Amino acid sequence: MEVVSRVIASCRAEGRLPFSVEMFPPKGQLTLDAAREVVGGMAQAAPDFVSVTCSAGGSGNGAQTVAIAGLIQDEAAIPSVAHFTCVGATRATVEAAVAELRSAGVGTVLALRGDLPKDAPAGAPSSDFRYACDLIPLLKEAGLCVGAAAYPEGHIDCFDARANIEYLRAKQEAGADFFITQLFFDNDCFYRFREQAAAAGVSAPISCGIMPFLGKSQIQRMVFLCGSSLPAPIIKLLAKYEDDPASLRSAGIEYACSQLVDLGRHGVDGLHVYAMNQPNIAQAAAEAIAAAGLR
Ligand code: FAD
Repeated sequence: MEVVSRVIASCRAEGRLPFSVEMFPPKGQLTLDAAREVVGGMAQAAPDFVSVTCSAGGSGNGAQTVAIAGLIQDEAAIPSVAHFTCVGATRATVEAAVAELRSAGVGTVLALRGDLPKDAPAGAPSSDFRYACDLIPLLKEAGLCVGAAAYPEGHIDCFDARANIEYLRAKQEAGADFFITQLFFDNDCFYRFREQAAAAGVSAPISCGIMPFLGKSQIQRMVFLCGSSLPAPIIKLLAKYEDDPASLRSAGIEYACSQLVDLGRHGVDGLHVYAMNQPNIAQAAAEAIAAAGLR
């Protein structure tokens, strides 16, 4: 199965905008049946690749990540990306995880630090890796195609826009082949970030991660988790549909679709949809992109 950097390159060579979706391992399932159902739904949107999240520190449903990434390739014939966190990891645990990827035939990972546990004392927990850029070389040495996270508005703990770009460049220098961004609601933030990244020498493709807002509490949680800014049109929609959750949800999907189309028209490197295991979201995004003639 093609690795994702090649998938992105061939899409661009064919004049198609790379389109991908993220899913997470369904909660509370010991079998892969629930995942299989989500994958089947996502496949209807014909994404160029599907990425699968993992929970940091082996604390939960991350145990299924590699198996699901393998299933996406084997059963849906879609290239996959296994998210790979290093918080609390050692060289030995990383090597074991790489062996698991190999046996599942998964050749692309998204190298992440992962979130530090909330109750941890100051500083990272005992780990051979402090930042994602410390993990990337080991994954490259193992022959994997490696993506990494990018933060158009800076990571929630990073208050210095210049350092944010430096850390991005450090990931590229460590070997990152492509980037996927944190969600954002204001495309202008991304356009500024893209300019700064290019000026700093970042040339690896950056795919834009877009998540539709589906409700008021979800968007509040997201904004506090990620530090993404809320532009006025969203605040107005939240006010307008305060007592009408169904209309708010539709407005959120519509807003995300218009964001994707605008990004596509601005010549971004790729579109990645945080579809939250809901195939109808992936489908709405794929249709909007196709209707705009972007794929
Ligand atoms: P890093 O790049 O290591 O950055 C961590 C912090 O350190 C940031 O504040 C950064 O500004 C700072 N920093 C980076 N380099 C340096 C340096 N050299 N010196 C000083 N400071 C530095 N989490 C999961 O647990 N599972 C997932 O599946 C998952 N998927 C994600 C997918 C995407 C596309 C994104 C954007 C995030 C995802 N996350 C996931 C969340 C991610 O793990 C957190 O945002 C985490 O806090 C940071 O991970 P990172 O790889 O960006 O870290």
